[in-house]
Parts: sequence; C-alpha cells; structure tokens
Amino acid sequence: MSASRFRLLPPSAAPLYPRDILAGLKALGDPHEALNGLRETIRTRFGVRHVFFATSGRAGLSVGLHALRRLAPERDEVLLPAYTSFSVPSAAVNAGLRVSLYDLHPETMAPDMESLEAAMGPKTLCVVACHLFGYPVDLAPIQALCRRSGAFLFDDAAQAMGARIGGRMAGTMGDVGLFSLSRGKNMTAVDGGIVLTDRDNVAEGLLGKLQPTGASGFFRRFATALVLTGMLHPRAYWLPASLPFLNIGASIFDPQFKTDGLDVFRVGLAKSVLGRLDALNKGRKNVASALLACLEKVEGLQSVRPMPEAEPVFLRLPVLPLSGSWPGGKAPEIPAMGVVRSYPQALQDIEGLKPFLAGQGKCPMAAMLARNILTLPTHAYVRDGDVTAVEEVFKDIFDNVHGESICFTRRSLLSAMEKKA
Ligand SMILES: *Cc1c(COP(=O)(O)O)cnc(C)c1O
Repeated sequence: MSASRFRLLPPSAAPLYPRDILAGLKALGDPHEALNGLRETIRTRFGVRHVFFATSGRAGLSVGLHALRRLAPERDEVLLPAYTSFSVPSAAVNAGLRVSLYDLHPETMAPDMESLEAAMGPKTLCVVACHLFGYPVDLAPIQALCRRSGAFLFDDAAQAMGARIGGRMAGTMGDVGLFSLSRGKNMTAVDGGIVLTDRDNVAEGLLGKLQPTGASGFFRRFATALVLTGMLHPRAYWLPASLPFLNIGASIFDPQFKTDGLDVFRVGLAKSVLGRLDALNKGRKNVASALLACLEKVEGLQSVRPMPEAEPVFLRLPVLPLSGSWPGGKAPEIPAMGVVRSYPQALQDIEGLKPFLAGQGKCPMAAMLARNILTLPTHAYVRDGDVTAVEEVFKDIFDNVHGESICFTRRSLLSAMEKKA
C-alpha cells in the first residue's frame, strides 16, 4: 500500500477558514476592541493576570527573557533543553544571553533533573522548559529547583497550547509562559506569539516592548492566510510545499529578528481560531490514538511516554526505534505522508550557536533524539487509510530486524561514550 500520488500530507496543519480571515479583516475596523477581546479571552481561559502579543513566538520568548533580565541584571545565562526548536536558542541569543544546555529523558522528553541541576549556577537567569510535540512536562520540581537557586522559570508551551498536567495548564506553570501562533503549532494566526505572566514585575518589563503594530506587512500576511485557508489539503499541498516563503519544515538558528507586537489583522485571526482550539486538539488526540493503536503492533518501535497525569495535545506523534538506531542507520522519512524527522541537530551541535554556549555540558540523549526522532502527522487531514499505510511501512522497516537492546539511560550512554574515547 502506498500513498496516492495526488495526496500529499503536510507534516502539520492547523488550517484557517474564510471566517477567520473575515474576522481578521473586521478587526482592522476596531483595533482596540479586537485586542481587548483577545486579551480577555486568553486571560480568562488560562487564568493569568497579564497577556501580551508578539509578532512571533521567538519574539515573545526574547522579550520575555529581557523582562526577566531587568529583575536580575547580574545573571546572564539561560538554560535550554538541548533538543528543541531552533527558535529557542535564537531567542536567547537575540535577548543578549549566554546559553547553557541540559539533557532530556528519551522516554518522556522531560528534563533530566540531574543534568539540569548540574548546569545551574549563580549566573543562571532562567530555565526554559518546553512541552515538546504537545506532551506536557510537570514543571513543579523544576520550579522548586529554580526557587532554591534564585532563577526564573520560563514555561515555553509553544507546542502545547491546551495541554494539561495534574490539572495545571502548559504555559502557566512558570514565572512567564509562551504560546506560538506559527504555522506548525496547535493553532495558527499565520505567525505570532502570546506571552503570559501572573507577575506584575515581569509584566512591567513587557509592557513598553510589545506594542501592537499598525498595518505594515498586511498584504504578505493576508496572502499567507489565504494559502493556509485552502492549500493544506492533501490534494493541494504540493503548491505551498513548493513555496519557499512559507518556510515549511525548516530549522534555522537565526538570532536576528524583529521583536514587535502583533498587528491587528492577526489579532482578529487568533481570536477566531481560538474558538476552535479544543476541537483541533481533540481531533489530533483521536488521530494519535489511532496511530498508537496501530504502531503498538510494530515490534521495534516505541512512542514517547506521557508523564503521569498528563493530558497531551499531540501536536505530532514522535516515535523512536527501540534499539536506539533505525534499521539501515537512517530515520525512515516518508515526506509524502508527512512522516519527517524533527530538529536535525542537538543544540550543542549547531555551529552558529557555539560562540554563545556558556558551559561544555554533555547532552548525549538530546543528540540521540535529534538523530532518531521521527514524527507522524496528527492533523485533521490524516485518514484511516493513512494510518494503516504508516503501519505497513513501519512493519516493513522492522521486518526481520532484531536489534540489540539499548540502554536508554543517560548514565549508561555517557559511560559507553567515555569507554569509546
Ligand atoms: C515554535 C516554537 C517557538 C516559537 O517559535 P516561532 O516560530 O517564532 O513562533 C518557541 N519554542 C518552541 C519550543 C517552539 O516549538
């Protein structure tokens, strides 16, 4: 069974509808009302006191980090997970900070506390925690560690808008939080970021920075919104997939970007799409359940395990080979089915980031994840036939392969590396 030649599944899709675009246009008529409306909705829904809007997620992250720095100017290092979106180190460097890295648990992708604690120091301004692929991480132990060390906690829920763990919402568990409205995220407004905080002193630092912008760039955003309205459909996706300005699937470290607020067209889009967030998340959860049920039958494959009490929103479904490496040595991407690798490198291996790295910590699991994580699409265009097709492909891949069992612990991998060296 193979994917139809005319169907091309995008890796991720949070489509826009004509009514979203109309809402965006309508917002232009009353910017004040649109902005207050969205702010109040987010405040109520996520139970936070202060909400700000940025032109992108990384802009929100950068300005948020800046606001924290104001409160602790003697601290200039930020701790990042060594496996995450390249937007995260881009924002840290944009904010003028140095970067330290911590490793992740391969089974849950949650921070490795031992590694995190080792990276923490008197210069640590804040820890950024990410809920990768919509799998929420319990931030309570990290918050406790931060309190002891006088550092802040940034709850980066760019991939987990709507996820909960132990009754708490991703994005609200730190001193400041982030959602992204970029194209590959839980919901999109073409681009954008939402910064939330309960702390008045953090909000003060954000206030002057993220002023709403006028209509500049409107036509480009309007055109992109139109593309996102019609062309994520599997029969039309070949077109946007070939448009370089959409930058679909690229991982680029680039600390140079604008840190403006959000323009009112996208505010209107976001307000309209927010009304569908629960439905989008529910749809992804259903696809993920169907995929998980099928993939259980594939020997040799494992999916990421949610933490206890987690309610993931399954932005994508990440899988790994149980043996720690794929048969043939290479992650089997199937671009036509939206089955693609994720971030191509661990952060310690990004050449352009090296001058900004503060420590020389080892993050072997992050490197292993970068080599091996394969992500499956969970969006609304995935059909039952696609799910079984993916299962067939993976069964083929693992047929007759009996890899040796792998030591999935950080310590064992480290000691294996030391023996080699
Ligand atoms: C997408 C993302 C961001 C923000 O990126 P933008 O593309 O600028 O919106 C931040 N953190 C993580 C973990 C992300 O996935």
